[in-house]
Amino acid sequence: NEKPSALIMIFGATGDLANRKLFPSLYRLFEKGNLSENFAVIGVARRELSNEQFQENVKKSVQSAASNGNSNIDEFASHFYYHSHDVTDSVSYGYLREMAVRLDEQYQTNGNRIFYLAMAPEFFGTIATHLNEDGLTDVKGFKRLVIEKPFGHDLQSAKELNNQIRTAFSEDEIYRIDHYLGKEMVRNIEVIRFANAIFEPLWNNRYISNIQVTSSETLGVEERGRYYENSGALRDMVQNHMLQMVALLAMEPPIKLNTEEIRSEKVKVLRAMRTVKDDKVDKYFVRGQYGEGINNGEKVPGYRNEHMVDPQSNTETFVAGKLLIDNFRWAGVPFYIRTGKRMKSKSTKIVVQFKDIPMNLYYKTEQTLNPNLLVIHIQPEEGITLHLNAQKTGNHMNATPVKLSYANTGIDGINTPEAYEKLLYDCMRGDATNFTHWDEVALSWSFVDNISQHWQKTQAHFPNYESGSAGPKESDVLLAKDGLFWWPID
Ligand code: NAD
Repeated sequence: NEKPSALIMIFGATGDLANRKLFPSLYRLFEKGNLSENFAVIGVARRELSNEQFQENVKKSVQSAASNGNSNIDEFASHFYYHSHDVTDSVSYGYLREMAVRLDEQYQTNGNRIFYLAMAPEFFGTIATHLNEDGLTDVKGFKRLVIEKPFGHDLQSAKELNNQIRTAFSEDEIYRIDHYLGKEMVRNIEVIRFANAIFEPLWNNRYISNIQVTSSETLGVEERGRYYENSGALRDMVQNHMLQMVALLAMEPPIKLNTEEIRSEKVKVLRAMRTVKDDKVDKYFVRGQYGEGINNGEKVPGYRNEHMVDPQSNTETFVAGKLLIDNFRWAGVPFYIRTGKRMKSKSTKIVVQFKDIPMNLYYKTEQTLNPNLLVIHIQPEEGITLHLNAQKTGNHMNATPVKLSYANTGIDGINTPEAYEKLLYDCMRGDATNFTHWDEVALSWSFVDNISQHWQKTQAHFPNYESGSAGPKESDVLLAKDGLFWWPID
């Protein structure tokens, strides 16, 4: 059990992400003994706070997140310090450096530093430049940069951002968060595929009919209207999370389970993904925007009536698409992806549909055989279900669908580690496997840019799905054209 020591600087320490995710997950690492005593945190934000006030905030955030006792919380909070600083103000980086040097010494952090940017992306470039120019990245140990999504708005802006942060950090020092990669069952895709003799031999175009990846939310845009108007579901969900899941499902077995090998296999998948050219976008992709409807028994407004949203908005809150991966393994197997807000249920799921057996011997019972499905439940439930056909007692000569299920949460519900906890721990240990490499970011933006550029040119007929539904009809048509349908997500 490695216990990394480091000084962690959190930029945006009074924000939502820091309070809801970062402090509680650091506490969980501390409580489990996964964090050595040799750590200190400097919180940076604009607001004036004393160290004591900041420590009180940290305690409150941990207490509101934790389900069980937190006896050593005072000790934990004593490692936190605060520096009030406008990140665009050059002068105060000098003070921040002195503070860091002092704490390095006091906590014997081996000169290791982690810079966590929990702020709006427009500041990333400025911060990185200053960290470099003002000597904060001159360290004796390691230096790492953790950066949140969105990583750019399109390929061009992602490149600019990348160039800015590369002035201070090398590629292997940059940890780009994709919080889906912290989820237990997303990490499990690899294990299911590569630790079982029964799946990998079938994991190709001879035996798999299609793969469906769905991530649906019941929530609408909430308070994020301003951000979402410039983003939409394609940029917010597809470019990163959905394509990451596809890459993990489709990649070749890596020669080793290390960062470099896994990433290089994922990159190959993204390179093999067929580009959807302008004139093909409408054939392969469907966009949607929610109208009003009933959500959890309550009447909810349409997207265009949400706070900070243009009443004529062309922004999509739903995307369905068909991806083709042009390589030996996957030629001819569609990967369908679908994501949306204000849908019927909250669920992230992968369904692998196997091809039908060559001949149905059970047709006399007037039933069609269900295909075998492997369902990977990502959230909110975590687990695996294998759909088989078997004969139930007394049902002579009759094949009935049965399910074999493994529920991850059922076993250890309370201790299910949060995604951020694992990602932070990975970063401290220097394991970048579950973070995205620049090559992955660049390839997925160039795939997505083709689609968003086409959509920008044409006004959509929005709204085209009711809140609380399964999305627009066109999404079902997309699969029906291939003789398929979406497997129900709930
Ligand atoms: P937020 O608005 O709640 O917090 C922003 C923080 O930045 C505050 O602490 C604020 O004081 C600080 N700040 C703003 N301008 C500053 C300046 N000029 N100088 C110094 N400090 C300044 O934002 P958030 O929700 O915590 O999100 C932060 C980042 O994380 C964003 O990039 C967001 O897209 C991303 N993100 C957030 C979540 C989440 O759960 N909140 C999830 C995924 C990604």
